[in-house]
Amino acid sequence: MAVAITVAAFAAVFVLVSILTIVILLTMGNQLANVFSNVVDALGATPSPGTRGRPQDGVADWRLHSAMTRPENWPRTILHVDLDAFYTSVHQRDDPRLRGTPVAVAGRSRRAVVMGASYEARSYGVRSAMPLHEALQLCPQLTVVPPDGARYREASRLVHQIFRRFTSPELVEGVALDEAYLDVTARTRHGTSTAEDVARRIKFQIHTEIGLTASVGAATSKLVAKVASGTRKPDGLVLVSPGTESDFLAPLPVGVIPGLGPKTEERLHAMGLRTVGALAAYETQRLVQALGTNGAVLQRLAQGRDRAPVDGSRPAKTISAETTFEDDVSDRTQLERALRDLTDRVTERLKTDGVRARTVYVKLKLPDFRLVSRQVSRTSPTDDVETIFRAARSALEKSHVESRPVRLIGVGLSGLEHPEPDLQLTLFD
Ligand SMILES: [Mg+2]
Repeated sequence: MAVAITVAAFAAVFVLVSILTIVILLTMGNQLANVFSNVVDALGATPSPGTRGRPQDGVADWRLHSAMTRPENWPRTILHVDLDAFYTSVHQRDDPRLRGTPVAVAGRSRRAVVMGASYEARSYGVRSAMPLHEALQLCPQLTVVPPDGARYREASRLVHQIFRRFTSPELVEGVALDEAYLDVTARTRHGTSTAEDVARRIKFQIHTEIGLTASVGAATSKLVAKVASGTRKPDGLVLVSPGTESDFLAPLPVGVIPGLGPKTEERLHAMGLRTVGALAAYETQRLVQALGTNGAVLQRLAQGRDRAPVDGSRPAKTISAETTFEDDVSDRTQLERALRDLTDRVTERLKTDGVRARTVYVKLKLPDFRLVSRQVSRTSPTDDVETIFRAARSALEKSHVESRPVRLIGVGLSGLEHPEPDLQLTLFD
């Protein structure tokens, strides 16, 4: 009996040890295989099918592989995607007769301005925000198309659907219907993909699925990505690798810095600063003397220093326009005249996008660059130009006190809503 028990115990221990050995061997085998495949990668051999992600859309697979052997260290990978001549491209896509011809999108009002111009129209000097009658003088054969907000929103919604294949919704920051920042760092972090690869795929998918072209800038900051996308339009792709930001920016004219207005540009020119590089290298103290604290901010941007995060949770967008006066203005009548003009412009844009606004704000920049801003909110959204003007005027009354001189006036609309509530949710989610 005792012998039987001993034998049984030995057998049990033997089986247990065997199972353990097999498990250990299997695990090691897996690790060995991993080590082996890494060595093969490092030696530059072609990965066998199945060990890497399949290319999704015909973009060459070697890019993925070259990223393994030539890793570039992107601390952040930010894309700025800007659809080319968006409004008119949508019309040219849908109506073949418009392709290759000068087209402008504009309303029918007496004071209509050009909301968008095709590249063919731009070659005649037609530009956005130009009064329509002026555009027609420059280009008499111009085809004028009324805006179609629903179609633009639909195209924009589809583009954002593509964006979400590459990053999470909170890392897509829509700036306008046709423009967004994407933080795709997670995609590129482990060398599984490069900034260029992601940018190419996005361009390819927008083109094949939506029939539009986009220009993309890829860099480690929003600022540099935005400048990059603007340098090779249309259908451009510009990568600015980490460490090369200031070299990339240096030769460009100062006007490329986002948010730098025409009057500041003029002052910089007067100081002999024409390129971003000159601004970046200028003595900070003298810059601050000339432009206030704004000067230091501008210089940091000129040096390519921008740490602003991509923030998809920001209230989706505002529509705004502003004017810098030749000489500072304190006269209320003159300010109201400028306000009327700006209100017309933003309302036109509002109607083009097919949305309504809940909030109207007015911003004033004082001669010392201080900003004063007041807003008026309504319980129901509107796109009526008179209602918006009245709201803007009361915001001006609240912000323009003691007849202070003003160097810049701006009007903005926010709390934008679509007439159909379900569309709104899908556009900005
Ligand atoms: Mg665009």
